[in-house]
Amino acid sequence: MIGTCNIIIIGNELECDKVLQVTPASLPGIKLPNHEEDIEINIETIIPNQSWEVNFIDKAYDLGIFFLSDEDANLFLNNNTLLSSRTHSMLFITSHEQSLPQDWQLRQHKDDIVIQPYTNNLLRLRIERLLFNRYQRTSKDIDQDEILSFLSGILNDALSDRTIEPMNDSDHANGFYYPAVAQHFGLNIDDINLLEHMADQGLLTKSIVNRKRYCPECGSNALNFREICPKCGSINFSEDTVVHHFSCGHIDVINKYQKGNILVCPKCHETLNQIGIDYEKPTSNFRCRDCEFIFPDGEVQVECEFCQHRCNPAETNEVQIYSYQTTAFAEEAVVTSNIKSFDLQELLRSQHTGAYPKQYFMHEMQRDVYRFRRYQVPCSVILVQMNFLEELRKAVGDQVTIHIQKLFSAISSSLRALDITSVMTADTLGVLLPGTSIEGARVVAMRLEQKAQGLDLPIDEIEAYLTTGTSECSDEVDSGEALIAMAMSDLEYNRSVMG
Ligand SMILES: [Zn+2]
Ligand SMILES: [Zn+2]
Ligand SMILES: [Zn+2]
Repeated sequence: MIGTCNIIIIGNELECDKVLQVTPASLPGIKLPNHEEDIEINIETIIPNQSWEVNFIDKAYDLGIFFLSDEDANLFLNNNTLLSSRTHSMLFITSHEQSLPQDWQLRQHKDDIVIQPYTNNLLRLRIERLLFNRYQRTSKDIDQDEILSFLSGILNDALSDRTIEPMNDSDHANGFYYPAVAQHFGLNIDDINLLEHMADQGLLTKSIVNRKRYCPECGSNALNFREICPKCGSINFSEDTVVHHFSCGHIDVINKYQKGNILVCPKCHETLNQIGIDYEKPTSNFRCRDCEFIFPDGEVQVECEFCQHRCNPAETNEVQIYSYQTTAFAEEAVVTSNIKSFDLQELLRSQHTGAYPKQYFMHEMQRDVYRFRRYQVPCSVILVQMNFLEELRKAVGDQVTIHIQKLFSAISSSLRALDITSVMTADTLGVLLPGTSIEGARVVAMRLEQKAQGLDLPIDEIEAYLTTGTSECSDEVDSGEALIAMAMSDLEYNRSVMG
């Protein structure tokens, strides 16, 4: 039923009362499609009897809150598999973390555990967070009018500076969100997806503002970066003064040398008299208490605070975070109340030009990244940004299609049959060059720029019709997205050099 959120509380009378006291009556800030009011919360309680049998009938719940206070509670969980299939999220309240059944895994963003003692505020916060996650990123169809009204709000807001900025917030699944988007579309909007879609349409441009790392196991960004002994991986080490005996080369902590008031080498038994001549104390050293290893710098290990997965920093997943700025095209769209779709994708698809769908392009690129990592087969990517689309459209109107087709044939004629072309954003093409190194790709890119210049489009004022960016597979590239991101920063650099 739209607009209602169902909670079930399972515990004794006193426990159920505790939860009832802190559970909110509605969920403001979350917007459902075709539903104007706040979501109402509907609560049921179950006080299990001696047999621990509960009749769920056919109902499904958004959240189940379960007290593990009784020792039979585990039995209950194991015997009521229905509980996990009928509840979207679970909150366990217990006195020991260990009291969860062994095979019961907490699901990131879905389940949570509260350990006694706790305050009412904490309990309320955890309940609200799970309910919020329940509705987060619910897909909605957003129509053109909604996008235009959102853009108009951004353009008319003197404080926003026409920019949509992200904000860090650990309550959001990604650890950040876009308040301006949440204000307009509700807290539960899939904001990144929406903003990327608008950027693809040419309504927004983006610039990188942060990078965040996420657990490769569970996706949490609550990560602890800690130092460990590089030899045995122990965290049990301490900073220590180390002495290096020059004549025999022995290195050890200072107390191994101390004999009363003098220093004697534990290896060669020579007395150490003068620092700088007999021995030195290298700065800040660490000694492992478990394996006695002495090292100048610990190794960094990442521990996920949610699932306890451990790995090295390079194994975590990085996400680039952007701020988004409105474009002149967005302003025009707001003024004319119409997003005159200037989507290359649409244009090229309708003209049978041989451009591949982006999904296929990304898939092929991922395979090439894999081939490089496995067999060292080179592969590079060219991004081709068209700088003249807006001007051309103003100058020739609908005739723009003919010119874009001409340009696309010019580009295609410079490529080999195995190269793959696709539309990446509203004004940018991607070209995948399998088996080609970056040197080869740069030659192709230059040829593309020259071909475009030779086209003689019915516009002036534009110095270069195309800006290109190139990148190639290397050991640092772990995905097709990374390859595209590198080509994009090369493109941005080339554009800034052009002025
Ligand atoms: Zn060690
Ligand atoms: Zn010595
Ligand atoms: Zn994790």
